[in-house]
Amino acid sequence: MEQKVNFFSFDLASFEDYIQEQFGAKKFNARQVFDWVYRKWSLDIDSWSNVSKKLKENLKEDLDWSLPKIVWKGLSKDGTRKFLLALEDEQTIESVVIPATGRSTLCISSQVGCAIGCNFCHTGTQGLKRHLKIEEVVGQFVAVSHFLISQGLIAPTLSNIVYMGQGEPLHNYNAVKRATEIFMEPLGIGLGQRRITLSTSGLVPQIEKLIDFPPVNIAISLHSPNDETRSELMPINKVYDLERLFKAIKSIPLKAHRYITYEYLLIAGVNDREVDIDDLCSLLHIKESKISLIPFHEYPGSDYKKPSKSKVLWFRDELAKRGYICTIRQTKGEDILAACGQLKSAVEEDPNLWS
Ligand code: SAH
Ligand code: SF4
Repeated sequence: MEQKVNFFSFDLASFEDYIQEQFGAKKFNARQVFDWVYRKWSLDIDSWSNVSKKLKENLKEDLDWSLPKIVWKGLSKDGTRKFLLALEDEQTIESVVIPATGRSTLCISSQVGCAIGCNFCHTGTQGLKRHLKIEEVVGQFVAVSHFLISQGLIAPTLSNIVYMGQGEPLHNYNAVKRATEIFMEPLGIGLGQRRITLSTSGLVPQIEKLIDFPPVNIAISLHSPNDETRSELMPINKVYDLERLFKAIKSIPLKAHRYITYEYLLIAGVNDREVDIDDLCSLLHIKESKISLIPFHEYPGSDYKKPSKSKVLWFRDELAKRGYICTIRQTKGEDILAACGQLKSAVEEDPNLWS
């Protein structure tokens, strides 16, 4: 049987072409459909009052409307919600909603597992199973939005996206790029470029291609200013060392991005020393860099420890004294393993946290 095209893989322009070619419909019909799906959040095609009966039948018959299925959800004490989503082939991925005053951020996955194998990362330990398709990246946002709306929990929609779930988003460059364009479609979800952040471990050839990517916020997982330590933490540094990484970063059009965020995982005794601060300062340009410190999140079986709170504050203050904008990423959802680096496709949590 011929595989149907999934609706959530279309950006508006390609959907306009598709319905024109396939059904002889008009461009404005595509806009109406996007409005129902991405602004009114209705997937009840029969109820779309301004769409003709014929087009509705065509859409129902010709397209695949399936979304990742929420098979488990957990609610943390701090309000963070983690969703385990099952895909068509029964692989699972996780998405996390992080609430804050005036906004709610969805942390999405770009792959099932991850090939990069950073040795501090829970996701990295499972290896790469496969890339996500465009509709699976977009589908996380849509499936979670529908759940939240059904519970009266968000109005009108999620406001921010971070590609900080499972996977290395730049390893799945094309699907992530297309999904990002769909998230930003003004006649659809309409997220602004500042509301989307892509975090990468430093895939140099893809960083060099960011010139063709929508100008969203870019975060680089740096974690050490020293090649030896970075290679120990992140095997990718053996292929693309700091010199190559920073050469590639220079190719990112900063006019559009304003600055680059450097994520810096703080691990006790590994990269939290005075010398690391000195080396960071030699590496990072004050005006073009923001530093986001992430105290290491421990998970079952992890080898590393997080530094003391006073050590984290000291590290931040030293960088601030030297003129850097430096924040500490608050740990969210740690009690349900929803924090950065803790995501893994398995249900290992305390069943009492089900909601
Ligand atoms: N693969 C991408 C994006 C997903 S990981 C990347 O590596 O950038 C998102 C962030 O969580 C990265 O900065 C990553 O280094 C960090 N992270 C991974 N494991 C962690 C852990 N155990 N504790 C805290 N942060 C972690
Ligand atoms: Fe992959 Fe990012 Fe985890 Fe490294 S930190 S293994 S790149 S998900």
